[in-house]
Amino acid sequence: MTGPYKIAIRGAGVTGLWQALTLARRGHSIIVVEQSTEPFTDACSPWAGAMLAPRCEEESAEPVIRELGMRGIQLWQAAYPDLTSAGSLVVAPARDRTLLDRFERMTEGGSRLDATQLEELEPDLIPRFDTALFYADEAHLNPEAALHFLLNEVRNAGAVVQFGTGETPDGADFIVDCRGLGAQDMLPTLRGVRGERIVVRSPDIAFERSIRLLHPRFPLYLVPWGEDETGANRFMLGATSIEREDGGPVTLRSTLELLSAAYVLDPAFGEAEILSLGAGVRPAFPDNRPRIITSSGYIFVNGLYRHGFLLAPVMAEMVAHYLETGVTHPEVFIADFGQR
Ligand SMILES: Cc1cc2nc3c(=O)[nH]c(=O)nc-3n(C[C@H](O)[C@H](O)[C@H](O)COP(=O)(O)OP(=O)(O)OC[C@H]3O[C@@H](n4cnc5c(N)ncnc54)[C@H](O)[C@@H]3O)c2cc1C
Repeated sequence: MTGPYKIAIRGAGVTGLWQALTLARRGHSIIVVEQSTEPFTDACSPWAGAMLAPRCEEESAEPVIRELGMRGIQLWQAAYPDLTSAGSLVVAPARDRTLLDRFERMTEGGSRLDATQLEELEPDLIPRFDTALFYADEAHLNPEAALHFLLNEVRNAGAVVQFGTGETPDGADFIVDCRGLGAQDMLPTLRGVRGERIVVRSPDIAFERSIRLLHPRFPLYLVPWGEDETGANRFMLGATSIEREDGGPVTLRSTLELLSAAYVLDPAFGEAEILSLGAGVRPAFPDNRPRIITSSGYIFVNGLYRHGFLLAPVMAEMVAHYLETGVTHPEVFIADFGQR
């Protein structure tokens, strides 16, 4: 395998855009076809947090997610100037301290902060929390801004992006299928996992990094999305994880749980304004691990589940490497189409 190749990419979510950017920058001729007429209207991607938290995710994900995710952060850092690299925090109410101990045991690279150290990072968490875990090399971004940035960069790199079409052009050497849940017609084990989230704004809350609140029933994470046009800070509060494939309105129960948890994190959320409530559906394989499935010129990149932003750049790097050298990552690639 050498190239350069003519490559058609199906789907312009975060996975497809990173494929397009990486492959175009390596000199391949790229066309992206996206079935929605406007960018991101039918994609899961704009619903993300988007935390880049490979260490924290290891609490519930396979080690390969951390390994690939650390590379994912490096690739975002090299490509995206608005990435916030401020680390992330994990806290628990005093009565649930055992959850924090367990989280520390299940993950690598976190440091335990005392109250003084925590106050230096996020003073508004004091005095409700007097200890935290800090993962200094994690990051986050605003997904919508990042997606529009990627789309621009893809075009600047010389790729053609066509909206309102699912038609794959003739004559491509390779087709890279990044249709997310749209690929269920060819990937029968792919399922959707619903994630609900609430976006709020408040001029009184100033968290700078993503924060996870551990709780036996209502875990929460918060991602700061920067200021809006009024100068107030916006926060994404999320996210539920429900084995259902519909992205319909958020339920009353989920709203109560997410907002109650936010109130535990900081009572100032009681005065925050709700900007939006909504749900996206994450594409996932049965084991929640991402896959690159290759079959005579057709390559699926899918199942990025909770980690689409974290892993999309590194999945793209792996596909590029595969096309240029034939080398595959044993934990991610599946060559036999029958095993999909
Ligand atoms: C609430 C929530 C919070 C999340 N938080 C995080 C987070 O903090 N960090 C993180 O890394 N990830 C997070 N995720 C996960 C992440 O959003 C997903 O893994 C990621 O968006 C999947 O991207 P994708 O490009 O594979 O799929 P999608 O974004 O769904 O893109 C697929 C695209 O393919 C198009 N398409 C479908 N059929 C066709 C066709 N026939 N022809 C052409 N195009 C087609 C669709 O219109 C769509 O635009 C979160 C997800 C949710 C729902």
